[in-house]
Amino acid sequence: KVRVRFAPSPTGPLHIGGVRTALFNYLFAKKHGGDFVLRIEDTDQNRYVEGAEAYIVEALNWCGIPFDEGPGREEAFGPYRQSERKHLYKDYALELIEKGHAYYAFDTSERLDFHRKDHEEKGKTFIYNWHNRLKLTNSLSLSAEETQTKLDAGEDYVIRFKSPQDQEIVLNDIIRGEIKIDTNVLDDKILFKSDGMPTYHLANIVDDHLMEITHVIRGEEWLPSLALHQLLYNALDWKAPKFAHLPLIMKPVGKGKLSKRDGEKGGFPIFPISWNESQGYREAGYFPEAVINFLALLGWNPGTEQELFSLSALIETFSLERVNKSGARFDPEKTKWYNHQYLQKKSDKELAFSFIAFLQNSFTSLPESAVNLEYVTKVVSLVKERADFVSDLWELGNYFFEAPTSYNEKAVKKQWKENTPQLMQKVAEILEVTEDFNSATVESNVKAWITDNELSFGKVMGPLRLIIVGELKGPHIFDILALLGKEESVGRIKKALE
Ligand code: GLU
Repeated sequence: KVRVRFAPSPTGPLHIGGVRTALFNYLFAKKHGGDFVLRIEDTDQNRYVEGAEAYIVEALNWCGIPFDEGPGREEAFGPYRQSERKHLYKDYALELIEKGHAYYAFDTSERLDFHRKDHEEKGKTFIYNWHNRLKLTNSLSLSAEETQTKLDAGEDYVIRFKSPQDQEIVLNDIIRGEIKIDTNVLDDKILFKSDGMPTYHLANIVDDHLMEITHVIRGEEWLPSLALHQLLYNALDWKAPKFAHLPLIMKPVGKGKLSKRDGEKGGFPIFPISWNESQGYREAGYFPEAVINFLALLGWNPGTEQELFSLSALIETFSLERVNKSGARFDPEKTKWYNHQYLQKKSDKELAFSFIAFLQNSFTSLPESAVNLEYVTKVVSLVKERADFVSDLWELGNYFFEAPTSYNEKAVKKQWKENTPQLMQKVAEILEVTEDFNSATVESNVKAWITDNELSFGKVMGPLRLIIVGELKGPHIFDILALLGKEESVGRIKKALE
């Protein structure tokens, strides 16, 4: 059975790179009828952030990609927080020592710094492995008794992996294919610290093994750790899962990966985690379906021109083989385009509900019409075509709720002619006597008058729109008049002529 995991460290809000990793894991699991596990990697207590775990869970739920197993959804493989699995790891570190794949190291940080500096001065990078082990006063030159004496004396130690000497190892990645690594370039990474905590590397492979993870799908930044992970699986005689490293998400312009600093250009999180962010995708008005859709296409391609995918269509179409090797450039305009598409798919009534909620949040006092569901639904149907976000509906349709308090000056200069007041006066009269005040009737009455008197359409329609809307924008003017109603429409004309 396919089992995958999303294994974030609770160090802050989830950024879209993390959410994309979660999404690809989710899609792969669901495609193969497998399990999607959430594991919280909280072994680094210095970086732990209060509330981050709850945040991660909420973010996955908001996106509509909930986990099957994880904190609060305990199955046979729990607990799912590494801090609660602390007791498990040391035995494996000791087993590695016993098998000759790891060792105690007692290096002081001063000594390590000294060697690092020394290398730097010679223009080399310091790699802690067999090249240096003997030069350093560490446990490799210590006998078992000497090691024991130091341990008994309570000296600080770490347990390091013993990278093999002069070997070439062949790694396999579903996305990148075969990768060959010379073990001489590997560091003897720390697996376990004297504070009783494992490092990421040890905890990660122990848990992936115990939780019977079949596929590790994670960001490219973990590719350099793959050799060590493979060696650890070999050393423990465990079958390694299959690996897939996802391409980085790149900045919209220039070099480098998308970061928090790219803020509204896509770097912001799914939603803020109160203590340091003010905005996220949710607050900006993105629909979860749109976020999921654009994230899926960041690094994956369906092999066709299709761009719009529901979650179930994604599950059906997704495959790791179609994930690209190269970085995926983030395009903020495209994310908006996605939101636009999903907004257009919503019913007018559903949008009206969201729009009313938005209005209630944004304004302390609202005209009655702004909370009238039937009226707002009609407004939405007239203006939504150009909206990317629910909040745009206000920008596009505010004149349905309040008469313009000013008129676009440039447009007034162009549109307002000497005889405009007389023309508008006449329009008001026509509206007043129109019995059945719907768009078609109003239109035919006004147009009949224009043709009968051989007037110019532009000289009537321009000023009329300015009076009603305040600007030369908006949908069909007769639709607007009909929705505003006779009294309001006539009132606005009269007010403009005062
Ligand atoms: N805890 C790691 C992270 O925060 C997980 C890496 C992995 O998936 O192996 O990204």
